[in-house]
Amino acid sequence: MIRFCLFVSLSFIAAAFATDEPASKAVFGTQRYVEYIPGELPLVISAPHGGLLKPKSVADRTYGVVDADANTQDLARRIAAETKKQTGKTLDLIISHLHRSKLDPNREIKEAAQGDPTAEMIWQEYHNYIEQALKASVVRHGRAFFIDLHGQNHKDIRVELGYMHRVTDLAKPIQEINSVDFIQSGSIQLISEFNPTVPYADLLFGPNSLGAMLEQHGFLATPSPRMTVPTEPYFRGGYTIDRHSKVAANVAGLQIEANRIRLRDSPENRQKFAEALVQTLCIYIPKWLKVEM
Ligand SMILES: [Zn+2]
Repeated sequence: MIRFCLFVSLSFIAAAFATDEPASKAVFGTQRYVEYIPGELPLVISAPHGGLLKPKSVADRTYGVVDADANTQDLARRIAAETKKQTGKTLDLIISHLHRSKLDPNREIKEAAQGDPTAEMIWQEYHNYIEQALKASVVRHGRAFFIDLHGQNHKDIRVELGYMHRVTDLAKPIQEINSVDFIQSGSIQLISEFNPTVPYADLLFGPNSLGAMLEQHGFLATPSPRMTVPTEPYFRGGYTIDRHSKVAANVAGLQIEANRIRLRDSPENRQKFAEALVQTLCIYIPKWLKVEM
């Protein structure tokens, strides 16, 4: 099954392009400010900070970060298209079309919408779509893998993988990282439960961690065997992952922060990263979540 995922034949790709199948039908929330494209795989991706719309009817946010994550909407769509190409199946995609100066879906509602009633409604719709997508995946597959996709522009060029652990926590002794309390404070507790004999530290930065696999595909990442403790600044994951990546909901997930240089700057680079990420997930998800891609 992994082979199919990675080494999908050229004739299959050609056939996929030749057929004029309509893409999965997108559904939209109020005024089309949130877009949800339902899928088939145990994989859900949200893109909160790639929105471009600045309607006058929604008040500007006056505090917190208001800059968008450039090109992350395009990157998310490329990852979705690449997934279809490599697996023949679709993932679930949730996109916020409002610019971050109007709504920040990756904050609790007070900071996210700052009292604007339309922004508050769109925030609810955005998180409802994520919940709907994750629940549908759990009905189909018994579990879901969830990625909240972002972009950062830190000096050290790497993909930052946010499992909700702080830099100071990742620097703790291995025995502590492998403890129950530590595991419960992270966003991939479900993976740990599926793999009870694997030390948690291995899931975060071992030779088969997501960071290791991305590095094997040519993209530096942290945490990874090369950099188990990220240098700062580092984004550990935010509101969305904290809210939705819960073992009780059968969801494991993380915040992925793609660096601008080499990963988001040009269409060619976004395409290369999308291909590498999907190849990685085609190994990672079956291996760790025990489910086909
Ligand atoms: Zn972001």
